[in-house]
Amino acid sequence: MLEVEHLSAWYGRTQALFDVSFSLQTGRCMALVGTNGAGKTTTIRSVLGLIRTSGGIRIEGEVSERLATPKRVRRHRIAAVHEGRGLLKQLSVFENIVVGLPKSAYDRLEEALELFPALKSRLADPVTLLSGGQQQMVALARAVVERPKLLLLDEPSLGLAPGIVDEIYGHLSKLRASGLTMLLVEQNIARARDFADDLCLIQTGRSAFTVRATDDAAVAGLMRLAFNQDQIAHQPLA
Ligand code: ATP
Repeated sequence: MLEVEHLSAWYGRTQALFDVSFSLQTGRCMALVGTNGAGKTTTIRSVLGLIRTSGGIRIEGEVSERLATPKRVRRHRIAAVHEGRGLLKQLSVFENIVVGLPKSAYDRLEEALELFPALKSRLADPVTLLSGGQQQMVALARAVVERPKLLLLDEPSLGLAPGIVDEIYGHLSKLRASGLTMLLVEQNIARARDFADDLCLIQTGRSAFTVRATDDAAVAGLMRLAFNQDQIAHQPLA
């Protein structure tokens, strides 16, 4: 579904990615893990074509660099749930889910509500009245109505209580069971290991290590590498 090879990316003149490579097979979930500022969100933005990149991004076997974001997401049916959810605060739950969707596709709302039944009674409410967990469900429902082949998820658990995070991951499991391919950013490596098929550690703009989540020894090695870097990063200056 997605192949990223020696990817570099820039914000203006500032280089944020230097060498990121990984491959995501159809129907699988890859979790990008690593510390703050490592380049996980930038990798997601690069796949979407939102920033300047060089190197290789192939989606469904097609070179994507020259394809602008709107064409890229339509052609390959990519949906993204960004960090902070990206909801439109002045709109209702219903409006947030269907915004941009042609009226002829409004029946897909039913499919989304099957997955997130808690939203059924809240459709007319301003989205800001919902809890953080429910707002995350709205953002996921918004993605689901696009009937994506590839879902990009940036820190779906950010700012949520642990019990609510379990609930959100329960919903994500249902999406995975439907065969959806996912690229997920998750800071919590243990959670990423429990949910994803593969883990890719991003460090200082580079993909340091990619492992199968079921390979305990490799995951332990990835964690050691990640936490050692953390300790180095958090050493007080002498
Ligand atoms: P976090 O979990 O904190 O979001 P991350 O791994 O997703 O971390 P990125 O947000 O991808 O990290 O940031 C990678 C690097 O790019 C960091 O050095 C960051 O300061 C820089 N960066 C991110 N967004 C911008 C921007 N809009 N303009 C300039 N630099 C940016």
